[in-house]
Amino acid sequence: MNDIIVIGGGLAGLVSAIALRKAGYQVIVIEKKTYPFHRVCGEYISNEVKPYLVKNNLFPDHLAPTQINQFWLTANSGNKAVIPLRMGAFGISRYALDLHLYQQAKAIGVEFHLKETVSEVIYNNQGFDITTLGGKELQAKFVIGAFGKRSVIDKKLNRNFIQRKSPYIGVKYHIKTEFPNDVIALHNFSEGYCGLSKIEGDRYNLCYLSHQKNLRTQENISEMEENILWQNPHLKSIFQNSDFLFDRPEVINEISFEKKHPIENHILMAGDAAGLITPLCGNGMAMAIHAGKILSDILINNDLKNRELIENTYLFAWEKMFRNRLWTGKKIQHLFGSPTLSNFAVSLAKYTRPIASFMIEKTHGKPF
Ligand SMILES: Cc1cc2nc3c(=O)[nH]c(=O)nc-3n(C[C@H](O)[C@H](O)[C@H](O)COP(=O)(O)OP(=O)(O)OC[C@H]3O[C@@H](n4cnc5c(N)ncnc54)[C@H](O)[C@@H]3O)c2cc1C
Repeated sequence: MNDIIVIGGGLAGLVSAIALRKAGYQVIVIEKKTYPFHRVCGEYISNEVKPYLVKNNLFPDHLAPTQINQFWLTANSGNKAVIPLRMGAFGISRYALDLHLYQQAKAIGVEFHLKETVSEVIYNNQGFDITTLGGKELQAKFVIGAFGKRSVIDKKLNRNFIQRKSPYIGVKYHIKTEFPNDVIALHNFSEGYCGLSKIEGDRYNLCYLSHQKNLRTQENISEMEENILWQNPHLKSIFQNSDFLFDRPEVINEISFEKKHPIENHILMAGDAAGLITPLCGNGMAMAIHAGKILSDILINNDLKNRELIENTYLFAWEKMFRNRLWTGKKIQHLFGSPTLSNFAVSLAKYTRPIASFMIEKTHGKPF
């Protein structure tokens, strides 16, 4: 019987694994891919996580992440608002950040099972039996579900959100372009929005979320970009004047923002597995790191004893910390579907900056 098995080695999984291992527990991470790898993500991380990463020697100083402190919001029409970011953020690729955290975790003795997909998690009164697609069978007292937005485990658990099809796709590129280092831009287009910000080296992240109907009405992704995204003159200029560094974009579909429960069948969910915030907030990575911290603190404080107390404490802390952010993010996303509404949102941000700053703060947490 292992102490803790973490399913999924993204930010939530790696951060909780590191904290628990440092506290002396035996921790296994099961990850279906192998590091390093690209993920669909805007790669803009709110500075609220910086003190925690620095304090725990996890901040990737050696990669010199870009500091971002200005936000540009544009509408399909080209209308643009510029908003200073009080807390700010840093930009770094998931390729580099996840690899860095994986190496840190390995160095302190976290055991990794890579290229293994967990297919089943069964709770018995003592703990959990875990099976992987490759036929491995493992046992643990506690299981952390850090398997991201959507996984085979969600289907096995029959979670509510998985019953409904979700209409969103995400597309990511790394590009070289002319753009300020300290700006995150969010460019709206019909039924979607696209972020641009600098990551490490001389690269920029270009990542968008689109309703699937945009793709359905076009032959393929590049036609969709030309015919729909390029209606925003800022996006047209970026696509026409940049070097695209991937052979093909990273693409994911079925992105769901439906409500999830942070504990299912005694599995403690962290990060996107507990709830995905709309990407326009730029807060999913910070929430994943924060959830990993909160959860590992609770497990450590209770020395892995008293499951009921651990579950109740985590549930309460999770709801208090994240539920409102998720709700606000969903409401703001409604403003960004139609060209008229997004133009209104940009004008609002332009002429009433305190409202824009207030909305940004509502989707972010405090530094921890
Ligand atoms: C289009 C888009 C843009 C975004 N932009 C930003 C942004 O700019 N800033 C920001 O803060 N957030 C952003 N986000 C959100 C952010 O990417 C996520 O919130 C964050 O990655 C969540 O981390 P996580 O650890 O929960 O999950 P992940 O990082 O997704 O990690 C989950 C891991 O679990 C593994 N896994 C899944 N199932 C299994 C299984 N059965 N067995 C074993 N392993 C498994 C996966 O391979 C993966 O490595 C964006 C999201 C989208 C969709």
